[in-house]
Amino acid sequence: MTEHIKTIIIGGGPAGSSCGYLLRKAGEDCLIIDKSDFPREKLCGGGLTPKTHIIFERIFDNLKYDYYNVGEMTVYAHQKKYSTFNLNRGIRIVLRSEFDNLLIDEYKKLGGRLLIGRLTLIEEKEGKIFITLNSGTQFSCDILIGADGATSLVRRYLQPGYYKGIICLEKKLPRRLNDNIDVMFDKRFDNGYMYIFPNKEGSVVGYGHKNSDIREFRTLMKEYQIPDDEKKTKGAYIPMLGKIDYPFRENILLIGDAGGYADSMTGEGLYYAFKTGENAAKAIIHKRNFKEESRSVLKEVRIIRYLSMLFYSKPFINMFLWMSTKPSLQRRINSVVNRYLAWEAK
Ligand SMILES: Cc1cc2nc3c(=O)[nH]c(=O)nc-3n(C[C@H](O)[C@H](O)[C@H](O)COP(=O)(O)OP(=O)(O)OC[C@H]3O[C@@H](n4cnc5c(N)ncnc54)[C@H](O)[C@@H]3O)c2cc1C
Repeated sequence: MTEHIKTIIIGGGPAGSSCGYLLRKAGEDCLIIDKSDFPREKLCGGGLTPKTHIIFERIFDNLKYDYYNVGEMTVYAHQKKYSTFNLNRGIRIVLRSEFDNLLIDEYKKLGGRLLIGRLTLIEEKEGKIFITLNSGTQFSCDILIGADGATSLVRRYLQPGYYKGIICLEKKLPRRLNDNIDVMFDKRFDNGYMYIFPNKEGSVVGYGHKNSDIREFRTLMKEYQIPDDEKKTKGAYIPMLGKIDYPFRENILLIGDAGGYADSMTGEGLYYAFKTGENAAKAIIHKRNFKEESRSVLKEVRIIRYLSMLFYSKPFINMFLWMSTKPSLQRRINSVVNRYLAWEAK
């Protein structure tokens, strides 16, 4: 017989686990299904901005977690150092496999069930949603939540052929190159940047823009004299620059990367994973409309998408770089950067 559960969440990343955690806290019946067993790898710089620390602590009741705190960010362009910004509240860099495992464990501590299996089919009949896993196991539910990342099958069900975003390439380096975050702009990039994030195990170097290319990434690493340990370069989508233009349904909700929620300027997605995970849980617990609950975050993502097109235009980037070399203007930009990283939509 097919087991029926009120809410099924596909994907146990930050979006799925935060939604599941809040549902369990409210005594709601739910099941998280993930294709990977935890701890699992997720390609990511692991940078938590101040607004992400705040929302994380709010959702997970001040849960302690391990991170590497970064207090400065240096901006380069065409191998030239332009400016160093002070990050007054720090960017906390986590290791995603460890961090995501901690979150799913918190959900499990509240009695949350996690099932390892890959979603392969979604069907709607008799007023219910039926899902089938690769094992052939079937479940039915009243509410299905797609938290299955940037290449979401749940989103494909609602919007076949949707735009997945830009591909971001990343490489792990076994040692820390720098204590700062380094950000590199380049005229070869179309809406994007290269970065080096330190973490407690070493560093990650990554790069992504509309036309990310592995050869270009290697060339850039050479130009910036970043040691290449010949380990594999990996790539994954970030839903930057896409539109959130699928139909919003009462019984099928999309959260995190699956819903296309990312900052098109910086590529930040963890904040939106937590925010939309929280919004979906609130909508279910209080029987409210998810789209209404997400009004401010939808507006924010759309505005940032337009701002990013302006920011990454050649004249604007050049002006930004020039301004960042003038001490009084640099201080102002620094304060805007800090406000931007901490600003949370209501
Ligand atoms: C290279 C790179 C660097 C990044 N750096 C940062 C950063 O520094 N800071 C930041 O804020 N954001 C960063 N991001 C974005 C961030 O990683 C994502 O926004 C975040 O992981 C989204 O969380 P999520 O829970 O929505 O999805 P995910 O973390 O992708 O979780 C989705 C889960 O769904 C599961 N799943 C997928 N398909 C199925 C299926 N069919 N059946 C069952 N389970 C399924 C997966 O196994 C996975 O566990 C980066 C992204 C990339 C690619």
